[in-house]
Amino acid sequence: MAATGTARGGRAVVGAYPRIVKDPAALPVAPNLADYEAARRAFDWREARALLDGLPGGQGLNIAHEAVDRHAAGPRAGRPALRWIGRGGAARVFTWRDLRAETNRFANALRGLGLGPGARVFTLAGRIPELYVAVLGALKAKCVASPLFSAFGPEPIATRLELGEAEVLVTTEALYRRKVEGLRARLPRLAHVVLVGEGGGGTAVPGTLDWGRLMAEASPDFAIPPTDPEDMALLHFTSGTTGRPKGVVHVHEAVVMHHVTGRNALDLHPEDVFWCTADPGWVTGTSYGIVAPLTNGVTNVVVEAEFDAQAWYEVLERERITVWYTAPTAIRMMMKLGAEALRGRDLSALRVLASVGEPLNPEAVLWGVEAFGKPFHDNWWQTETGGIMIANLVAMDVKPGSMGRPLPGIEAAIVERGADGAVSVVEAPMVSGELALKAGWPSMMRGYLHEEARYRKCFAGEWYLTGDLAMRDEEGYFWFVGRADDVIKSMGHLIGPFEVESALMEHPAVAEAGVIGKPDPVAGEIVKAFVALKPGHEPSEALRRELLGHARRRLGAVVAPKEIDFRAGLPRTRSGKIMRRLLRARELGLPEGDLSTLESDER
Ligand code: AMP
Repeated sequence: MAATGTARGGRAVVGAYPRIVKDPAALPVAPNLADYEAARRAFDWREARALLDGLPGGQGLNIAHEAVDRHAAGPRAGRPALRWIGRGGAARVFTWRDLRAETNRFANALRGLGLGPGARVFTLAGRIPELYVAVLGALKAKCVASPLFSAFGPEPIATRLELGEAEVLVTTEALYRRKVEGLRARLPRLAHVVLVGEGGGGTAVPGTLDWGRLMAEASPDFAIPPTDPEDMALLHFTSGTTGRPKGVVHVHEAVVMHHVTGRNALDLHPEDVFWCTADPGWVTGTSYGIVAPLTNGVTNVVVEAEFDAQAWYEVLERERITVWYTAPTAIRMMMKLGAEALRGRDLSALRVLASVGEPLNPEAVLWGVEAFGKPFHDNWWQTETGGIMIANLVAMDVKPGSMGRPLPGIEAAIVERGADGAVSVVEAPMVSGELALKAGWPSMMRGYLHEEARYRKCFAGEWYLTGDLAMRDEEGYFWFVGRADDVIKSMGHLIGPFEVESALMEHPAVAEAGVIGKPDPVAGEIVKAFVALKPGHEPSEALRRELLGHARRRLGAVVAPKEIDFRAGLPRTRSGKIMRRLLRARELGLPEGDLSTLESDER
């Protein structure tokens, strides 16, 4: 599909912005990866693995040991591992020693509930300390941790708990009452719901357990059992074009990637104070909001509140953040306020700015220089890859608008799919095709839960096909072109159109629904739905509002459509699939492309 016409979200900015030249010798701290080419040549995954300890006595590899226990047993034991800044000014600091005791308690609590290796422990909470303790404690007990995003509505939550075969859910009383209680009958496997009370207080909701009590009764001593690096550790959900969300399976060995990319891509050094703004409900918030900073022994700052530019600047200044990992939507919102909003702030501690999750406009890279004195370093990866694959490194020239170059140990290429399904590498520079990665790095997903066929479809021989379209320039920098599928990226969140369409179709007035991503200057894309009504229902403003409200209640604000248009019917292929591509082309006034498979088309 080289030079395909289906790309979207693309940017024609190659070479339009001056390169930001870096001099590794002039950086304030010697970079971990000073010479990209040499590091690529010398890279060896065994050496990356040797940066970690492994469980004592050669008993395998466990993420929580590398993140918590090995530092708790060493010179960093009394240093701040997690600095939590709560809403309304509350603050808590956990040293590695504290974190070891808390995670041990939760591991023991799980054991006390009879949960063994492989049991699925879900969390549904804002960024509260208990979430971090629950994830790491579950990993210690060899359970599988699966953090869900607390802004999801009841439907996406129930779907994921069902698909992921949740046995334990750690959540708050408020979220439980609003989003889970009513759906519990659908979840017979969910044996235990553990509630964190407001402000740490106790709860007494029927059919649930109280976090505080459970923890108080559990011992702070726990020895992690032998862990095979291939044991399942983390389950993240991601969205596809069709069908239900996919449960992406990651194993304990992924920690090798989390650790080494923390060093190489984010340039973490032991003295750093690191802030990843992502929520652990998305993969970035786990791989880099929990694991990578802790394994690298840096202080991990966690901010509970949602985005607010001045509050964020306050965190950067007061906490003396040195490495900051954030996302394009937030950067664009800050840009709207202008660099003046930063005047008077002492951000001299800030050393590295990085961004991930969606295309980062070259203007945003340069705005970093204007506002913070350094560029945002864009990097690329996805839930399936478990860790950063392509990045602008601190010691490497930045080409604004480019995602950077593949990290040492990662081989990336632009490939073209032939009619027989086989792929060939496109050698010529600046030709658009599918971004592919040679499989074999430690944090590569090990499967989609119970969906072997969907998993196998991601591979062609040794190549893992990412579903993204990109170009590679003559220096090996990659440039994002767009998605190859109908998946929507809104404010960094990947949204499957099918999940949104299904929720709309549950409304008694809706006959069919088609959902697309509509470009938006701040959010990247917004979710837009086209709806055809059942006989007896007429389009009206009141019905539009009712459908928007219905979708919001079912799906939550992040996933629900922001716009709904009525249509007499939706374009479908001969096989009955809604042609979202055509809905989108019409919405945006783009060429309609190949219509040979179009069956019905009432506008
Ligand atoms: P997720 O699995 O939710 O992390 O989403 C992964 C997808 O986000 C990728 O396949 C891309 O489509 C998009 N994405 C992530 N990082 C970038 C980036 N730096 N530039 C452009 N798109 C990105």
